[in-house]
Amino acid sequence: MPQRLAILGSTGSIGRQTLDICRVYPELFTVEVLTAGSNAEELIRQAIEFNPNMVVIGNENAYNQVSEALASTDIKVFCGSKSIADAAANSEVDTVVLAMVGISGLEPAVSAIRAGKKLALANKEVLVVAGELVTKLSIEHNAPIIPIDSEHSAIMQCLQGESSASIEKIILTASGGPFRGFKSEQLQKVTLQQALAHPVWSMGDKITIDSATLMNKGFEVIEARWLFNIETDKIDILVHPQSIIHSMVQFVDGSIKAQMSKPDMRLPILYALTWPQRLKAPFQTGGLLDIASLTFEKADTTAFHHLAMAYRAIEIGGGAPCALNAANEVAVDLFLHEQLSFVGMQNMVENALRKFESIKTTTLADLIALDNETRVFCKSLKNN
Ligand code: NDP
Ligand code: MG
Repeated sequence: MPQRLAILGSTGSIGRQTLDICRVYPELFTVEVLTAGSNAEELIRQAIEFNPNMVVIGNENAYNQVSEALASTDIKVFCGSKSIADAAANSEVDTVVLAMVGISGLEPAVSAIRAGKKLALANKEVLVVAGELVTKLSIEHNAPIIPIDSEHSAIMQCLQGESSASIEKIILTASGGPFRGFKSEQLQKVTLQQALAHPVWSMGDKITIDSATLMNKGFEVIEARWLFNIETDKIDILVHPQSIIHSMVQFVDGSIKAQMSKPDMRLPILYALTWPQRLKAPFQTGGLLDIASLTFEKADTTAFHHLAMAYRAIEIGGGAPCALNAANEVAVDLFLHEQLSFVGMQNMVENALRKFESIKTTTLADLIALDNETRVFCKSLKNN
């Protein structure tokens, strides 16, 4: 039986690369659900090619366009964020690939887990905001969360056959982003175009900016903390500019296991779909002969204050990581619209974290309320 997929965020970078795999292996994967935010044209194109059971467009204003374009097909068309969350629990689906960006993925993630789906998770913000709640639910509902993020896929691969008691530490590698080696004064002057020019990965705009500030790496520490149930003092970051080692695990006997490959997100996507098995990659992964050297550096948490803020948020716990994420989403969006400077993003997140870091949260509703409150605060900062 083929694995039946819902791809949430199918029009984005991870969504399209997931469809690249489905295109090659139609006998192994069928596409049952596709969802997008507002890119109606791409969603229609994908629907015509993959003939899913249903599509959902988040933006309600684009509903008519999608529904008219697919009127002559059997594909059901829905709109709005509630329909995306419902689609994640669809009974025709085995695996939900969560490739939406930001907190928009939270309710669909919870919905997929509650319905007992396998969750192939790219959307790291879900674990930043609600890691404790989501991982607890995943155990309760027997719904495994398999990471697509390359570092966490690497760690999961290194941990196959190992017991958690034998882990000394997890070593998350980081490319260092476009501003590797920059000091605080140099970061004052960087532009949006420079920040969007990632040296290794071609990704959506939001994660590209998070990679430039190193917030992405801070988020990945939080993501690892929850996925692998490990304290943050056992998670180190090592800058590795070649991005060949996607992460490592050091064991108590001193051995270090690393997962290596040429950087290509289709590999961790494929692993998340086929885990615990492996499947022949339908693309060139390449050997290592043409790689002259593998180098490592310490991460700079002084110039890259975002990283220090992420460590602080996870240490405080409660609502702090949720506030961190909400402030960061607002700041990145303003930066992308050239309404805030690179350093301005840092100041906005710092202010929001200071204001909201001691808020206690226990439920999904608390987290959503805190997310909203933080956004309102950040927008008011911008307007003053
Ligand atoms: P993109 O911006 O390329 O794609 C995001 C997708 O989510 C698009 O389909 C978009 O629709 C949809 N979307 C955005 N906002 C909403 C919303 N409010 N409601 C419904 N759908 C929405 O992002 P990426 O693919 O780069 O990243 C996706 C996630 O994966 C992020 O959390 C990122 O951190 C993580 N990730 C990405 C990696 C990468 O290589 N790209 C690597 C590791 C992790 P539309 O096209 O219509 O806007
Ligand atoms: Mg990553």
